[in-house]
Amino acid sequence: MNIGENLWHDIVEKLKEEFSETTVGLWFGSATIGSLDGDSVTIVAEDDFKKSIIEKKYLPVLERMFEELLGFKVEVRVDSATGDSDARSEERLFVTSAPPARPDPAAQEKPAAGPNLRSEYTFDNFVVGSSNQLAQAAAYAVVQHPAELYNPLFLFGPSGLGKTHLLFAIMNEVRKLHPNFNILYVTSEEFTNELIDALALRQNRNLAFKEKYRNVDMLLVDDVHFIAGKYSVQEEFFHTFNALYNEKKQIILTSDRPPRDISYLESRLQTRFESGLMADIQPPDTELRAAIFKMKTQLLGIRLDNEVLTYLSENITNNVRQIEGALKRLRAQSFITGEPISKAMAADVLKDFFTTDGAERVTIEKVFSFVSRRYGFSTEDIRGKKRTSDIVYVRHIAMYLCTEYTGLSLKAIGRQFGRDHSTVINARDNVINRMKKDSAFDKEIRELSKELTTL
Ligand code: ADP
Ligand code: MG
Repeated sequence: MNIGENLWHDIVEKLKEEFSETTVGLWFGSATIGSLDGDSVTIVAEDDFKKSIIEKKYLPVLERMFEELLGFKVEVRVDSATGDSDARSEERLFVTSAPPARPDPAAQEKPAAGPNLRSEYTFDNFVVGSSNQLAQAAAYAVVQHPAELYNPLFLFGPSGLGKTHLLFAIMNEVRKLHPNFNILYVTSEEFTNELIDALALRQNRNLAFKEKYRNVDMLLVDDVHFIAGKYSVQEEFFHTFNALYNEKKQIILTSDRPPRDISYLESRLQTRFESGLMADIQPPDTELRAAIFKMKTQLLGIRLDNEVLTYLSENITNNVRQIEGALKRLRAQSFITGEPISKAMAADVLKDFFTTDGAERVTIEKVFSFVSRRYGFSTEDIRGKKRTSDIVYVRHIAMYLCTEYTGLSLKAIGRQFGRDHSTVINARDNVINRMKKDSAFDKEIRELSKELTTL
């Protein structure tokens, strides 16, 4: 397969994760990539009819997928293999001046969420080294002996090091070994939202919710640190946890830090989380990074000689997600230029990945999306007027990060939050004072700052 075929193959795989095989086969079965040129991709559909369906229904989805794979935005255009090519190129002239109207995103087929996604996250393609060996072995043991050895299993470590990968590996393996198991994967953000919805329904108050969570054989909760400070969520989670635990059901949790470092976590939950096995994942050393690079190049269908491989594994040191991002960018670059991937190309294309001092790259939008992802509140809530204690807490952190890393004036920052500069000073000072008094909080903010400036 050449790189274009590879890329298309990956897109089709992604489509199959979100739509049924039949749908994907029907519209994309014999489509190919016609060209990838700078920032636009042309897909060649089998005929005019399929072309029009792809254009009407799938453009935003395709653009998102290409961006995920390539690491940058591209415009997706569609051609048809049977159309009259002259007419088509004429059409294209017009298209550049007046792009076709995009379909309403709300009318799109909603991607199916849930544990069927990510079948590619398996134990087979999880590369093991000293920094993640305990976590991998524990995850594997849980598959073999659910609820017998380590309950709960608590996996923790910084972002991008394979926690979610291990959760899906567990699910994929358990499906094979215990096909009748009722497995539930949820992020703590989803758990929170579902609980809020359930509480909003007065009648039958959260019965369906309880039923859903208490009838499982295995519960996997990803990024449990998001429930920090949310006490009603913690209350419900505590009962869910106990119910499952007492029924001898396996519980697996991940977090970006150990339970004792999650601020505003009820102590009874902390005790529960610590009562099974806690296994941490540390950033990979050079050896493991090289091994991961090797495996990912194979998966992505690219060739790298040893010089480039060594260069990359010495310079991309942060996390595994970055390794994948770097390889995808290189693959795209090589596809566009038609040149093989060399050390010089890597140095040029991956400049951003190598910068360690990222202070000037932090924008206010980045702070918002980062804090929102981290704490599970929407950007609107963070910038908005709500004054519940957990939102205020997160808002103060966001303001603090803006003052430290965006280089904007207090006034400009205040404007982004619809407040004046004295509120920003207040928030910043609150955070600084609290960091001095509360070491867990201090650690949290330091880690947050580090991630914000290096990701
Ligand atoms: P986390 O949940 O810890 O933030 P993910 O599980 O999402 O991290 O991992 C980020 C990416 O890195 C995923 O695509 C995953 O497949 C990959 N990855 C992480 N660790 C490994 C590993 N040891 N071997 C192979 N791939 C890995
Ligand atoms: Mg994750």
